[in-house]
Amino acid sequence: MSDVVLRLEHVTKSFEIGGTTVRALDDVSLEVRSGEVVAIMGPSGSGKTTMLTIAGALQQPTSGTVELNGQPLQNCSQAELSKVRREQIGFIFQSFNLLQALTASENVQYALELRGIKGKAARDRARNLLGMLGLENRLNQLPGRLSGGEQQRVAVARAFANGGSLILADEPTANLDHARSISLMEMLKALSRDLGPPVVMVTHDLRIHQLADRLFWLEGGHLRPVTPEEIHIVGTQGAGGKEADARVGAVLK
Ligand code: ADP
Ligand code: MG
Repeated sequence: MSDVVLRLEHVTKSFEIGGTTVRALDDVSLEVRSGEVVAIMGPSGSGKTTMLTIAGALQQPTSGTVELNGQPLQNCSQAELSKVRREQIGFIFQSFNLLQALTASENVQYALELRGIKGKAARDRARNLLGMLGLENRLNQLPGRLSGGEQQRVAVARAFANGGSLILADEPTANLDHARSISLMEMLKALSRDLGPPVVMVTHDLRIHQLADRLFWLEGGHLRPVTPEEIHIVGTQGAGGKEADARVGAVLK
């Protein structure tokens, strides 16, 4: 049996904008296996978010195929796709996207309830996951009382809570400082190793090469593998965002 969790084959995605066609993804193929952390880097507008949303069954490719655990997504109904998202995929966003009226624990329990896990079982699992992320003393806090790093850890717990098979993270450390970014990425890697689902992460953080199992560069809709050395050349501390993009991009050209 294959342990390929996610398979993109010859995926293209085009958008029509004011009579012109923007090709956000151009013949992208990628296989992701359980337990690995895959990092996607690339300039702004290069198709990174588009790729994650297609991998996460939030939108369909223009052509090409997406498979999750061997199940092709192109023939699924909207209801089936929504079930796939709810049960198979955990999303982590740059802006945390926690429900502000719910405590840390309740945010995680909510994801569990969508899977039919309720009551004490949900509370126990939420406490367990939040504890793995060092938040055992913050269970009953509202997001507004938590630091950015803590909020993102709640979002990580929520993403892993559904026990699904794939974690997708779109610039999860973009709103965190250096120390919290490193710590968050280490936690993501540890959870992926311990719980199984691979992580596909879009990042601007040049230090990710220390933690990712594989690195890719996406530019102009084209995805290609890059080595840590290629990234390392410009991997100085503190650089981030567009500046880092430009410097990495210049090295790769
Ligand atoms: P990134 O995440 O790398 O910054 P995106 O995937 O958001 O890039 O966007 C890639 C390209 O596709 C951009 O040119 C963007 O304007 C375009 N695009 C993305 N989503 C849409 C959409 N829903 N409608 C029209 N154009 C889009
Ligand atoms: Mg994006």
